[in-house]
Amino acid sequence: MAQLTDAANHEQDITETLYARFLLRRINTTGALAMIREVPLSQPVTVPLQNTHMASFDKTIANHGVSCLTANTITSLQVNVGKVCNQTCHHCHVDAGPQRIEIMTVDTMDMVLSVLKRYPQIATVDITGGAPEMNPHFEYFVTECRKLNRQVIDRCNLTVFFVKGKGHLPQFLAEHHVDIVASLPCYLENNVDEQRGKGVFDRSISALQQLNALGYGLEGSGLHLHLVYNPLGPNLPPSQRELEIDYKQELLTRFGISFNNLYTITNMPIRRFLDDLEANGQTDQYLELLANSFNPASLPGLMCRSMISIGWDGILYDCDFNQMLNLTTHPSSPTTIADFDIQTLEHRPIVTGTHCYGCTAGSGSSCGGSLTEEKTVSRS
Ligand code: SF4
Ligand code: SF4
Repeated sequence: MAQLTDAANHEQDITETLYARFLLRRINTTGALAMIREVPLSQPVTVPLQNTHMASFDKTIANHGVSCLTANTITSLQVNVGKVCNQTCHHCHVDAGPQRIEIMTVDTMDMVLSVLKRYPQIATVDITGGAPEMNPHFEYFVTECRKLNRQVIDRCNLTVFFVKGKGHLPQFLAEHHVDIVASLPCYLENNVDEQRGKGVFDRSISALQQLNALGYGLEGSGLHLHLVYNPLGPNLPPSQRELEIDYKQELLTRFGISFNNLYTITNMPIRRFLDDLEANGQTDQYLELLANSFNPASLPGLMCRSMISIGWDGILYDCDFNQMLNLTTHPSSPTTIADFDIQTLEHRPIVTGTHCYGCTAGSGSSCGGSLTEEKTVSRS
């Protein structure tokens, strides 16, 4: 009972924090200072959505029999090794860029490695950023994770291979059998450059060709190369399976490129993407689209149920999105890598908010793509 009360209090705190942030954004972009007096901070995060007649995320899942979203068996650690990136994409939920200074230290990496040693059931280390390879200790961390026989995923923006001093990365990743999940929001140059910056498309194609030359994405090589698609604007992704067929055909015909799977990911209404929505007056419309597309079949596979996200400073979160909103794991469970305890974390309540509609809309969305569409079989 006490735990339930704590959970309710924490939810209220989060609600207030999120709502305060939302209001600040609105005030910054519209100058509507009157809003702060009209709507007190004690009201829930769903308040700004009342205009669009939407229910809160928690109410919606409760209507589908889930009174509290809780974690399950933890099979993966998603480690954010820093916010530095060589790009500054429009949709970035991390607010990453060359000017950021947050970097995971070797000491914190060693604490993550110690958790892996303690819990062999955690099979996967999913390394993200920023551009994770911009962390000067990236190679150390990958090498040590592989020594522990874990599957390692590198969330790679591809253009990092062309940063001075990073040209060795394709070979390094291949030698260590690291799975690569690479962003490529379209197979057309204009669309990619519009979202990710001028010249990004050409460099991405060149990087993919380098990876193919090493065996990545080719049948029988054992080197996995997956691509990530996210919509250019405030829309849901199309069918992952159908888009994958198009991508494979177009990339092979135009550039001779092969890859394993395509992951479609919904843009989350946070950080830079939310800034864009606000600037274009599309926030309500997008949130309404996400909420109206709620798909209960996505709930069992939500990534927060099977992973822990670790911030560059060792703080624990339910997912990378909660991390970017500074929503740490529930206080009834460990909140730092130093206190990591898998038994408690596997039963923790997940910290939810309106942004969670981004994971449950349409086919569902996660760092591994759609949650309800079957993936094609990868034979690499
Ligand atoms: S979306 Fe990825 S590549 Fe683009 S700025 Fe953010 S972290 Fe960097
Ligand atoms: S944003 Fe998605 S992954 Fe994160 S807590 Fe919400 S539902 Fe789970």
